[in-house]
Amino acid sequence: MNAKGHLLSGFAFSIFVIFLLDYLAFVKFSSSIENIVLLVLIISFYSLLPDIDHRSSKMTGYFLVIGFAALSISVFQLATTLQLVNDPIKLLIFSTVILFFPILGPRVFHHRGIIHSLLIGALATFFIHLLFNNTLFTIIAFASYYSHLLADGYLLKLK
Ligand SMILES: [Zn+2]
Repeated sequence: MNAKGHLLSGFAFSIFVIFLLDYLAFVKFSSSIENIVLLVLIISFYSLLPDIDHRSSKMTGYFLVIGFAALSISVFQLATTLQLVNDPIKLLIFSTVILFFPILGPRVFHHRGIIHSLLIGALATFFIHLLFNNTLFTIIAFASYYSHLLADGYLLKLK
């Protein structure tokens, strides 16, 4: 399935989960603009994320652009006296991690291998929990990741 298909199924599945959680009164949905914008970003990112193991996916392209931008900023700041960010070393580590996936990822991970699994989905989702500490965001990140696995034909791929 291509990126557009994964986005469509990611949004359809996530909206279903949001309504279900709200209906069951498990997590109430607040329709503030900030909430909706963050959910749209989370759904878009997580429903495409598994294809980071593919050499020429949309996600691989985004990681390359973000990684190189972060790398340039951190190296530039370390080489000059210009103050662009608070912690250039942290940004350097971040950019190295981000660049690992598009540059070495496809060599290390097979396409639709372990990255296309519930285990990595849960690990990647944990990042959203750390970042926002918001139950709905965490569940929806995982639901979006899972929607990608479902659309690729994996009902229950643990690892
Ligand atoms: Zn895929």
